[in-house]
Amino acid sequence: MDISGAASSADSHKKRIVVIGPPGAGKGTQAKLLAARYSVPHVSTGDLLREHVGTNDHIGRDVQFLMDSGNLVPDEIVVGLIKDYIEGGSFIFDGFPRTVKQAETLDAILGSLGMKLDKVVYVTIQDEIIVARMSGRQTCADCGAIYNREHNPSLKEGLCNICGGLLRVRDDDSAPVVKRRLNTYHALTEPIIDYYRRKGLVYEISGLGQIDEITARIAAELD
Ligand code: ADP
Ligand code: ZN
Repeated sequence: MDISGAASSADSHKKRIVVIGPPGAGKGTQAKLLAARYSVPHVSTGDLLREHVGTNDHIGRDVQFLMDSGNLVPDEIVVGLIKDYIEGGSFIFDGFPRTVKQAETLDAILGSLGMKLDKVVYVTIQDEIIVARMSGRQTCADCGAIYNREHNPSLKEGLCNICGGLLRVRDDDSAPVVKRRLNTYHALTEPIIDYYRRKGLVYEISGLGQIDEITARIAAELD
């Protein structure tokens, strides 16, 4: 039996994609839509970490202050949370990797499994627009859907269109913390783009415009 042939034909249905962009660029929204389109897991390290903060377990207690102040949590914690998803072989990562160290770790794990990333989707947007966008952002506490009071309000104030869950403003979406998150992004996360450019993996797209149009353009690149 030709195991390698079988593996590669099964492999062609899999997607291994990383979505990178500054906070508020819409990467979470796009990552969710793409995951649904390709039926692969959407893995948001921010969501995973917030779950731990919500249950107040030992990881949650270690990371809450860092997250609420706009800083990154240690690489080891994040890698521990997503290792299983990498090994699962198909994923859309949203918020990971966030440092060059994390990108190298992801490559090393994929390499040890004989796998590679298909594409890095880089969603760009100017800092000033980000600060304006995030000030009205609301997130569904139950399903994670994202709204904006000005640009994309829910039908019923404070309630999710999809699941009826309560909408919340994240603790780290206040203006000073958003600025701190942007600084963290420019200093620690942006250098990953060059790292992936050298590997020829980056597809850059503006985060300005209609959500569906942006998804369609990304999908055209990934299909
Ligand atoms: P955003 O990208 O909109 O800022 P996320 O939900 O992706 O929001 O992340 C929220 C916070 O979770 C980050 O500010 C950071 O503290 C933490 N975090 C998420 N992913 C990582 C990661 N890969 N490495 C370190 N910290 C992370
Ligand atoms: Zn919801």
